[in-house]
Amino acid sequence: MIDKQPSCDDVFEPALLPVAEAQKRLFAALPRTNQFETKTIDQALGRVLAGDVVSPINVPSQTNSAMDGYAINAGSIPPSGERALSLIGTAWAGQPYAGQVRIGEVVRIFTGAVMPQGTDTVVIQEHVRVEEPYVYIDSAELVGKNVRHTGEDIESGQVVLKKGHQMQAADIGMLASLGISQVSLVKRLKVAFFTTGDELVSLDEHVQGAVLAPGMLFDSNRYTLAALLERAGVDAIDIGIVRDSEEETRNALLHASNVADLIITSGGVSAGDADYVTRAFHDLGAVSFWKLAMRPGRPLAFGFIKDSAFFGLPGNPVAVMVTFLEFVQPAIKYMYGMHSVLPMAIPAICQSKLKKSPGRVEYQRGVMHVNDGGQLVVESTGKQGAGRLSSMSNANCLIIIDADCSQVQPGDVVKIQPFHGLLGG
Ligand code: AMP
Ligand code: MG
Repeated sequence: MIDKQPSCDDVFEPALLPVAEAQKRLFAALPRTNQFETKTIDQALGRVLAGDVVSPINVPSQTNSAMDGYAINAGSIPPSGERALSLIGTAWAGQPYAGQVRIGEVVRIFTGAVMPQGTDTVVIQEHVRVEEPYVYIDSAELVGKNVRHTGEDIESGQVVLKKGHQMQAADIGMLASLGISQVSLVKRLKVAFFTTGDELVSLDEHVQGAVLAPGMLFDSNRYTLAALLERAGVDAIDIGIVRDSEEETRNALLHASNVADLIITSGGVSAGDADYVTRAFHDLGAVSFWKLAMRPGRPLAFGFIKDSAFFGLPGNPVAVMVTFLEFVQPAIKYMYGMHSVLPMAIPAICQSKLKKSPGRVEYQRGVMHVNDGGQLVVESTGKQGAGRLSSMSNANCLIIIDADCSQVQPGDVVKIQPFHGLLGG
């Protein structure tokens, strides 16, 4: 148990902040975007609705046949045995039968055709015997069968999609079916990002195959972040690598806050670095450094630089991804006004033995699949160091092991977060 309540204002907080508490603080502090734009529905996939969408019409717009068959008035169904009805015409989809249908009469009808006046029931073609000009129907027919009524699917004036809904393929088709060609969408967020570190080598300045100087490493986080941001549906602005200097960091943050709604950095938030980063924030904004009760991803900075929200993610490549998925992606969804913003965790049977130290939630990398018995099972990717980006690349989900758990035995049920859904793909 944590006996000291973590505080958001305390820069070097000794107590660990639980993930759920940190997420709560984020949502309490973050604004919802209030910038909207109108777009045609073919540009709306994955975008978030700025307002409710109301149907201008009934669907179906007219009562019509659900089957190929014969349209009758239910009064023509005989109390017993068979009855011969006079065939008086045909109703095609898109070509209605214009006349009135009386008891004792029948109209040949096809799926989707408007029900002729006087009819309320369709007898499917397999149920009738045709001896022109008569059609014989049976007493077993049910009143009102095989008819789709006006407004049965959607009524005029009904809210069909709610504000904050993320548009899927089916939604776009549905809006088209209602004759709606334009929708009001939340404007895409502008997200500026940069990586920090004197040890980083940019791929732009590197000849592939050339040897790295001792102590240097390739800046992979900027590529990971760019890809994650693309999938999160934002306009990403790559500011590049910023060296470990107070002035450079300050200038980069200032520039980012002028061009973006949200700023993301990697590295420089652990205790050793935090000095210059903290100093860089001085005057620019209100930022807190959190020590989270999670692994990987213990240090995280969050706050505002002028009007832009800011996340200072850890430098470790795996920690960058995990903190992005647990905090940044939910924050983006929240700012877009979406309703369900946290990654979905589902139960799966773990097939590996997993170890961890108690006290922090661990996000281990896993490979999930459905076994021959139809059960969702998950295996560990193996070694779990926070610098092992390959463990993330081999994985298709995160395995979440609660803080108070110290090990998982094969056969135990664990919670997993599939990447596919997490990444919005
Ligand atoms: P830091 O939080 O700045 O101390 O970074 C922690 C560790 O993460 C560093 O020692 C690097 O090994 C690694 N790291 C930091 N930034 C990056 C980056 N942009 N790309 C790849 N690895 C990085
Ligand atoms: Mg660093």
